[in-house]
Amino acid sequence: MESNGALWTLMEQPEGTDMTSNEGSFGLFTEEAAPLDVQACDRCELSGQRTRVIWGEGNSNARLVMILDNPGAREDRLGNPFLCSTRETLQRGMREAGLDRNLVYVTFLLKCRPIRAYNKPAAREACLPHLQAQLLEKRPLVLFGFGNVVAEALFPWKENASVKELRRDWHEWQGIPVGLTYHPLAVKRRPNLMNIFVEDLVSLNNKFAACLSRQSNNQ
Ligand code: SF4
Repeated sequence: MESNGALWTLMEQPEGTDMTSNEGSFGLFTEEAAPLDVQACDRCELSGQRTRVIWGEGNSNARLVMILDNPGAREDRLGNPFLCSTRETLQRGMREAGLDRNLVYVTFLLKCRPIRAYNKPAAREACLPHLQAQLLEKRPLVLFGFGNVVAEALFPWKENASVKELRRDWHEWQGIPVGLTYHPLAVKRRPNLMNIFVEDLVSLNNKFAACLSRQSNNQ
């Protein structure tokens, strides 16, 4: 499997944060700038809360695209790069699963980070076209979503769509295979979920390898 090189960047630990569990080996993925027309998007009320539109991060050419609900903090209050718990736990799980983070692109249902209450259904509906356009451009071989919010957004026609119901199986979204697992923050809060989380990421790793192999056999 071809690696796309070290596109992530190790960042310094901001003062006053507990990064002892990082073991010094995790870091922020490189952020991909949003298209110019999206940078000024005001389709929903989050345009009044954000500091900027976060389009995605990681290897922008990756054929494996992960979907989180919304961007977490990337900088602390002083503007220093900051590794949030979501990213730290995600990277921990990926490392345990042997999933090369250089082969992954991470994006979000909502491209703006909420900082206070907002109309969630309206924001999700408003932002979905951005995700659809992004995936048309990225042409992922495999999608992987985290948490019930993503499960509900991708499968609104499934009653009570939840990770618990949908994980383990592969589904399809807009013609692309998609798997699901728990949100990294849920895993952080309930460490007993880590084994399941890693198991799902191993399944993802295998699925992606199979898709890559099929693609190269078809060329
Ligand atoms: S969350 Fe999405 S739809 Fe709402 S302002 Fe941000 S980019 Fe636009």
